[in-house]
Amino acid sequence: MSRTRLAPSPTGALHLGNARTFLVNWALARQQGWKIVLRIEDLDGPRVKEGAAQQAIDDLQWLGLDWDEGPLYQLAVHTPYEQALEQLAQAGHIYPCRCTRKQIEAAALSAPHGSSHETRYPGTCRPAEPTPTSWLANQSEGTAWRLRVEPGDTQFEDAFAGTQVASVEQSVGDFLVATKVGLPAYQLAVVVDDSRQGIDEVVRGDDLLRSTHRQLLVQRLLEIDNTPRYTHLPLVVGEDGRRLAKRHGDTRLDYYREAGVSPERVVGLLAKWCGVGEQQEMIAAEFADCFRLQSLPRESAVFRATDDEYLR
Ligand code: GLU
Repeated sequence: MSRTRLAPSPTGALHLGNARTFLVNWALARQQGWKIVLRIEDLDGPRVKEGAAQQAIDDLQWLGLDWDEGPLYQLAVHTPYEQALEQLAQAGHIYPCRCTRKQIEAAALSAPHGSSHETRYPGTCRPAEPTPTSWLANQSEGTAWRLRVEPGDTQFEDAFAGTQVASVEQSVGDFLVATKVGLPAYQLAVVVDDSRQGIDEVVRGDDLLRSTHRQLLVQRLLEIDNTPRYTHLPLVVGEDGRRLAKRHGDTRLDYYREAGVSPERVVGLLAKWCGVGEQQEMIAAEFADCFRLQSLPRESAVFRATDDEYLR
């Protein structure tokens, strides 16, 4: 049986955009009989907010979503990430880096690749040759670790977004797998977790399409052969075309909850954004009955002033 995950980061309350992605993920799982794991991605260091994990759980339940396993907290385990980092280090695939963000930005500006919206690591600390070492024996405060990215494209077939081809080496270069405070970085943790939790269906926002290429490289170097199938969904944006965020007003689920708005009303709005009928109140289970991935609009959903009025 296939398995998927709901993976909120407890860095703030869920808003309508996150809610739509989780609702679609949940509906696909319930339609296809996939098991659902709730994974709390609490490795994100300083951005994690106290109480936000419980709040995400409450928000998901309020929407009418459920899961078969979890919540599983990343911070509750160390060994799987440590083993993965050690395996990569022993094979010479990762190296320590003490560059500061400032140094990287300054060096990247003068580097020939330049330009993409993420800063490309200019390779300052990269050893000339792959250098097998021990991650466990060489951790120290202030030292991050990067993966050696070789030239070449990665390619995958996204179940919604279609064929994806990119060169990680050209876009971001050697990326972080462990942070300066000794925690696994997102790209490493997500690959380790998806593998050890037996996840074979990943459904998430298309802001992570570019990250997927990095995750494929990590999988390859860790010799993980059960690559999940990926389904990346367009995000919800404001009328200004920018990704839904605080600047578009209070679209947090806890806000609607406290204001006495019913979850059926919120699911109704999310359903309209998913091409399921015309705004009509519904529970999550009804949404799962009518939703079809093929009818999901290709372009981003737009949160309009009228939607806000409808909910209030
Ligand atoms: N925790 C991430 C988020 O909330 C999702 C990561 C993933 O699905 O891989 O955006």
